[in-house]
Amino acid sequence: EETLRLLLSRIKDVPDYPQPGVMFKDITPLLADPAAFGALTDALAGLCSTYGATKIVGLEARGFILAAPVAVQAGVGFVPVRKAGKLPGATLKQAYALEYGTAEIEVHAEDLAPGDRVMVIDDVLATGGTAEASLELIRRAGAEVAGVAVLMELGFLAGRARLEAVLGGAPLDAL
Ligand code: 5GP
Repeated sequence: EETLRLLLSRIKDVPDYPQPGVMFKDITPLLADPAAFGALTDALAGLCSTYGATKIVGLEARGFILAAPVAVQAGVGFVPVRKAGKLPGATLKQAYALEYGTAEIEVHAEDLAPGDRVMVIDDVLATGGTAEASLELIRRAGAEVAGVAVLMELGFLAGRARLEAVLGGAPLDAL
């Protein structure tokens, strides 16, 4: 309870960013506070251990900031899922729909393999499109989804319902 209050107090609502009508949740004050950042990585690392994750996927770009220290803390590997065109090696690529148009994310094919139990970490679950596409990548690599963990979900965008439909019973935790 106290931890959640601390985390909540360090998230800033920024109106009309990146577009008019959008209330953006800015996590940079949380990152700048070592007590809050540490409490967040502790909580996420605890979930990764509880669900037996053997690898942690972070979603570009804010997901990297959270997933990397969590992976070190949990003692498992970190795997970046990047926007298309940024990874040098052989990749698996997954397209997903945006409000206008489509986007693509990629992962190095050799970073995920059968036998891996993969936890996906990001800062915010909005529509769930990015997280859903990352689950596709994990499964196409032959790995298993251990769960999805985020700091916040924007409930009015119904990302939870969308993800739960494809999680196959794996947990979705929003702190
Ligand atoms: P989705 O694919 O679920 O619609 O969007 C989730 C992605 O957009 C996440 O990677 C997240 O970082 C970013 N995102 C969407 N809305 C916000 C927001 O209000 N604050 C932050 N920090 N990220 C957001």
